[in-house]
Amino acid sequence: MISKSEKPWINEIEKYIPGQMKEGYVKLASNENNYGTSPVVTKTISEKATSIHIYPYKDPEVREKIAKYRKCSQKNIITGNGSDEIIDFIFKTFKGPSVGFYPTFSAYRISSQVFNEKYNEIPLNPDFSFDSERFVNDERFRQSNLVFLCSPNNPTGGVIEGEDIKKILDEGKLTVVDEAYVEFTSKSCTELVKDYDNLIVLRTFSKAFALAGIRIGYAVSDEKLINLLSKVKPPFSVNLLAQETALSALSDIEFMEKNLAKIIKDREILVNKLSEKFRVFPTEANFILIDVSTVNLTADEFFNKLFNEKIIVRKFGKFRGFEGEYVRISVGTTEENERLIEVLDKI
Ligand code: PMP
Repeated sequence: MISKSEKPWINEIEKYIPGQMKEGYVKLASNENNYGTSPVVTKTISEKATSIHIYPYKDPEVREKIAKYRKCSQKNIITGNGSDEIIDFIFKTFKGPSVGFYPTFSAYRISSQVFNEKYNEIPLNPDFSFDSERFVNDERFRQSNLVFLCSPNNPTGGVIEGEDIKKILDEGKLTVVDEAYVEFTSKSCTELVKDYDNLIVLRTFSKAFALAGIRIGYAVSDEKLINLLSKVKPPFSVNLLAQETALSALSDIEFMEKNLAKIIKDREILVNKLSEKFRVFPTEANFILIDVSTVNLTADEFFNKLFNEKIIVRKFGKFRGFEGEYVRISVGTTEENERLIEVLDKI
């Protein structure tokens, strides 16, 4: 009976698998910021707990404050229940087919499939670098209306240079640049929103601001695009505590920046350490992609070795069309990273 009303393409979707989590384990699987959030934020959450009988009402204030942080107008900002939700808004609002490179964050493909839109994938270079010339000349790019780029790219860690993003924007297609990890690099294209009315930049409070569990992200874009996206946004998708925590987090950017500096410094130490045994890909995010086949391990075997030592990383195994056994490791706190290094020494 139910099958009569089932949308046939939904069954075809390969579901998103989140990083594993187990109490008492060091979790280096989901690119969170393990230093946690500012004490100002935790105080706000307990203070505002008595207000949760009220519908969320601070979206204008949140957008205003984000706009100040991003040096634009609140008319250029939309918030969502994580940047994940904004990816859905984009597919609700704009027609495919869409195109992205591979490997990248799987949500673009999944959202596209939910809306029964074709999602084209163009492989990155064998070393996971990005060739914008090849990308824009690919037939799959030519056939698409919507472009998804991720910089720094999850899971490879590589960034797309400003010149390459401009080259793609100059093609005139609606282009989304996912900058979930942008605070960990100096390379951002958010400023380009002023010059290009076909650019949507996705950003989040989940990573650098350490608010993954409360769910708030935002997009920066041209006012006309923001207006369209606002029409498909459920009115209360960002909850009251998420709004309050975003406001608080933005009032204590110093706390975030202090931890960012530690993560960036430790990333360097970890990259050097990992390079002794594994193939390591250049990263400007808070995670490192490695190929563990260099020590004759599969991603599964490597994952299990670490899991037995109570460390959880993210195993990808093989990427279609690429040689290797891939694992992604998030940079944790200094203490967690030291523990990781101890375990790596035994492999
Ligand atoms: N974009 C990228 C590239 C990500 O890695 C993630 C989280 N894994 C997201 C977006 C979603 O982030 P959130 O919904 O927590 O804002």
